[in-house]
Amino acid sequence: MSTTALGERPPLTVADVVRILREAAPPELAEPWDSNQLICGDPDDAVRSVLLAVDPLPPVIDEAISVGVDMVITHHPLFLRGTDHVSATTGKGRSVHRLIRAGIALANAHTTWDCAAGGNADALAAAVGLTSTTVLSPSSADPALGIGRVGRLEQPTTLRALAERVAAVLPDSAPGLLVGGDPEAEVSTVAVSGGSGDSLLGAARQAGADVFLTADLRHHPATDHLADGRPYLLCGTHWATEWVGLAPLASRLEAGAAHRGRTLTTRVSKVLTDPWTLRLSTGS
Ligand SMILES: [Zn+2]
Repeated sequence: MSTTALGERPPLTVADVVRILREAAPPELAEPWDSNQLICGDPDDAVRSVLLAVDPLPPVIDEAISVGVDMVITHHPLFLRGTDHVSATTGKGRSVHRLIRAGIALANAHTTWDCAAGGNADALAAAVGLTSTTVLSPSSADPALGIGRVGRLEQPTTLRALAERVAAVLPDSAPGLLVGGDPEAEVSTVAVSGGSGDSLLGAARQAGADVFLTADLRHHPATDHLADGRPYLLCGTHWATEWVGLAPLASRLEAGAAHRGRTLTTRVSKVLTDPWTLRLSTGS
């Protein structure tokens, strides 16, 4: 036995990291339709490094393999609906094969991290500079937590100035940030929810928000909503509004490892997994 190994603690395992992930993003906060769990990997395998990303898509798996991490933690699940095979004849099946061959585990925290204290919604609210935040859509498991946040800006500003601030704090992607409403209107209360926010338009209005920052807003829900007034709309991309939650999750994983007397190296993927790669202005 080497003397340097004496007193050294063994590295964390996949099971340990999943436990730390659950402490940060408690499973009881999950929406009933959702999946938040270890997707592939052996619970007994050692984990020294983790890559965090929004989507378990092939470019993220490329990155995980090329940098040699032991585990990938994504926001979105790889499988949400029942599947009867993981053969390498589909993109998802190929991803499972590549991860297993490379000895890389994959886990995710989706609505659990959306709702969690210090999770995705809090990260987005903090990025926008909101104070005195409350929950937009309370979780039935814990009404003090839930999806989305609503809070106040330190000072009232115009919709245009707020949009410029939000555009500056979100990572860039081809669609950028869309603004719905009068750019010169004064605004002070802002609701935020990363990812698809159509279903929360009513909650944002009920909360008295002047502006609702979310993503994936469709024509009819957005136009019908704006016809009845505030909140005005800021529509970022799904990826950008959820990417801001990765760095805080990385910090929580590192802190959870440190609490156990171990070191975990984390890396937040900068690989853009929005479907859109290019935006052209239309018309002549
Ligand atoms: Zn999402």
